[in-house]
Amino acid sequence: EGERYAAATGGVRRRVLVFPLPFQGHINPMFHLAGVLHARGFAVTVFHPDFNALDPSRHPSFDFVPVHDGIPRGDGDDGVLASVARILELNRSCEAPFRERLAALLATPGCGDVACLVADAHLLTMMDVARRLGVPTLALRTGSAASFRLFAAFPMLCDKGYLPARESKLDSLVPELPPYRVRELMTFGTGGGDHGHNLIGEILSRAVAAARTSSGLILNTFNALETSELAALRLDIDVPVFDVGPLHKVSPAAPSSSLLQQDRGCLEWLDAQAPASVLYVSFGSIASMSAAELVDMAWGIANSGHPFLWVLRPGLVRGAPTQTTLPDGFDDATRGRGAVVSWAPQDEVLAHCAVGGFLTHSGWNSTLESLCAGVPMLCRPCFGDQPGNARYVEHVWRAGLVLDGGELERGMVETAIRRLMEGDDGAEMRRRAGELKSRAAEGITKAGSSCLSIDKLVNHIMSL
Ligand code: UDP
Repeated sequence: EGERYAAATGGVRRRVLVFPLPFQGHINPMFHLAGVLHARGFAVTVFHPDFNALDPSRHPSFDFVPVHDGIPRGDGDDGVLASVARILELNRSCEAPFRERLAALLATPGCGDVACLVADAHLLTMMDVARRLGVPTLALRTGSAASFRLFAAFPMLCDKGYLPARESKLDSLVPELPPYRVRELMTFGTGGGDHGHNLIGEILSRAVAAARTSSGLILNTFNALETSELAALRLDIDVPVFDVGPLHKVSPAAPSSSLLQQDRGCLEWLDAQAPASVLYVSFGSIASMSAAELVDMAWGIANSGHPFLWVLRPGLVRGAPTQTTLPDGFDDATRGRGAVVSWAPQDEVLAHCAVGGFLTHSGWNSTLESLCAGVPMLCRPCFGDQPGNARYVEHVWRAGLVLDGGELERGMVETAIRRLMEGDDGAEMRRRAGELKSRAAEGITKAGSSCLSIDKLVNHIMSL
């Protein structure tokens, strides 16, 4: 298709530069978007730092330019605040090398006519650099429209005293921003202190600035899912907003951009399970839990009696960076009923007919992948936008339920799993998820809303 478009433009592909934030949940949607743009006739150059470095050999259609970030290796990336600090550090450390690499690329004869840079909304510095070199910019925000509204509302939430959040107020509603409660307001809970509060304020205001100063904001969501949120966002922000998701469905044939080796054997294991019988359990690439929580989670899963596929990635348990071990007796209690892998082809797992529910940390990609596969969720959100995503899953889309609050207790986990996987409640959540799956599929047909947004995005890029 790309060749056809390129031929239509005289055989010259205009070039789109992309700079993903080097975290899994940001890399995947950016690569899917790059795949979409390539299919529409653009040449693609990917800029990437050394941190979580990408493998160019897996993406032969794209050109790659490494940006040496100079960040010392091996200092571990444990915890959320460390990830936030890492994002700010990447902005600083990549500025000079990116400027140099971009200037060199622009001066290279035959590199093609550079149309724009699409950067992750957390890379404001790179967008500033590009604009100073005359390259227009677009921001890709890899979360929901609702969560971006929270980003923009952060100063108001502080002025009105909702933030920093106080333990006693966590369950209070926030009337300015329904359906959120205080516990869903982009916090680290009440544990981050002033340092955490300031860091999150900085990162959110930079992302909002990145969108407002760009030539357009691209969101991995779709109109039927977030109709009113998108409408409100468009009133609030002067630049065009392109709701082009779910990107993994728009660009399904793209090669995997997984940083970890995906264990594909679990798909065969799923083949042998009954339809909608398996609980898939995964907490994404960054979220972590205490050793005690893992034990309660494990016994909740075991005692529920349901088959399960559990992703135990290295580093999932705080204080155990390499090996995650399940409690003594767990294997015997669940023999023949479960599979454990360290990383899964999640998208394909969720689309497998044997999967009937997803115990998730409610990262946005996971949420979208689950909804688009018609799989209801049991949400155990940790930080950032996850509690807000979970709130939407339970209260707005009614396609799952939330295990929130403080300490987990194994009885709670078991009951919630049974509610999700058995009985009328669970069936209704599955029905709701199935409806959203259909709406997502309609959106990506030729006259569907996401497809039209992609057309608009392509025309917009051509006009820059
Ligand atoms: N993922 C995967 N294998 C796994 C777990 C997750 O490929 O075993 C992918 C998942 O499909 C999603 C991404 O990693 O695209 C995680 O993104 P999300 O926004 O859900 O969470 P984050 O890791 O950013 O917290």
